[in-house]
Amino acid sequence: MKKKHSAGGSEFNPETLALGYAYDPTLSQGAVKPPVFLTSTFQFESAQDGKEFFELAYGLRERDPGEVPGLIYSRLNNPNLQIFEQRMAAWDRTEMGATFASGMAAISTTCLALLRPGDKILSSAPVYGGTHFLFENILPQFGIETIQVPAGINTHTRMGELAKELDGVRMLFLETPANPSNAMVDIAAVAALGRDLSEGRERKVITAVDNTFLGPLFQRPAELGADLVIYSATKFIGGHSDLIAGVVTGPMDLLKELRAFRSIMGTMAAPFTGWMLLRSLETLSIRMRRQSKNARALARLLADHPRVRRVNYPTLLPEGSPEQALYERQCSGPGSLISFEIDGGEEEAFAALDRFEVFRLAVSLGGTESLVEHPMTMTHADVPPADLEAIGVSPGLIRMSVGIEHLSDLKRDLKHALNPA
Ligand SMILES: *Cc1c(COP(=O)(O)O)cnc(C)c1O
Repeated sequence: MKKKHSAGGSEFNPETLALGYAYDPTLSQGAVKPPVFLTSTFQFESAQDGKEFFELAYGLRERDPGEVPGLIYSRLNNPNLQIFEQRMAAWDRTEMGATFASGMAAISTTCLALLRPGDKILSSAPVYGGTHFLFENILPQFGIETIQVPAGINTHTRMGELAKELDGVRMLFLETPANPSNAMVDIAAVAALGRDLSEGRERKVITAVDNTFLGPLFQRPAELGADLVIYSATKFIGGHSDLIAGVVTGPMDLLKELRAFRSIMGTMAAPFTGWMLLRSLETLSIRMRRQSKNARALARLLADHPRVRRVNYPTLLPEGSPEQALYERQCSGPGSLISFEIDGGEEEAFAALDRFEVFRLAVSLGGTESLVEHPMTMTHADVPPADLEAIGVSPGLIRMSVGIEHLSDLKRDLKHALNPA
């Protein structure tokens, strides 16, 4: 299936492309679905073909117009990954994608491919725990320093000030909305800063957005000017809590650099993971919409509950506030991560967590099943106590990832958990 109808008109929507784009059934005995290509190596039809495939793979020549890179070896390319990458790029409105073995493989390969000793990252804070560890403990060993800027309505202004004071800022890294506070950073403003800083420089300043929480359905950073869109595909894209993967989409020039590093560091995903991701992408839109619809109703229930002090969820942002205006500009839906503070501390939070029967007590997020967890003692346990307040984590805070279960059952479960026995 091609991107457009043979009768002309605009491109098909990503929901439609997710079912057929970038796959040619005639190459697979007419199979309607891409089979899983469990092979490490690919046979060449002729020695000349092998030579030409390698010339492209090693960048010894430019690709001829219309030339499709030949398959060589599954560390370099594999049909299951390629089809998934093209469908993801279509979803993000970018040129190209690269699939990785995990979200962390995607983020670390991106940093190692694009940053050099002496470079600095300005990052929104908080970011995912693994990303934080990479920035604080691993990249410094390679001479790459990260400066954190709290996520919020003024993050781009603060980043602009820091970029003036500091030498060598090379990447603006955002995770928005932030986890677990749902605080948002203005992607368009940060991307504009990145373009300003790039003026007259040989090496561009790259804006990279970890789009795991709302993308690709409800937030499209590339359309707002970001260079790279990064995902833990383990979460919503995989969507069934049964795989670990990552993906990055963006322009051809940057993606080529990432893919070269991926080939050598071996951080690509396995073919079977690519096949699982293709299955998942078909239902991404209906899953995320249903999850978001359920979450919106539960956030409302929480906001009205006498035992709840505070609910962090985009649809509950104060009417007329700059935060709400940013949400309206930047996102097309609120997603399904809610955090709320129960009246009391750890004891009250734990009592509620232990009373859930439908929501499962587990970390991770974005799957079809609803999950609850306690950020302070679980996902954010390694955040220094002094920083917890700044990122909105208190002893009574509970985070939930809302799934696709029947809303009435989720409501019943939540009310039951909140009512003291
Ligand atoms: C889970 C997660 C990651 C890490 O992804 P893995 O697939 O677990 O490696 C990165 N960023 C965000 C926002 C995440 O939620």
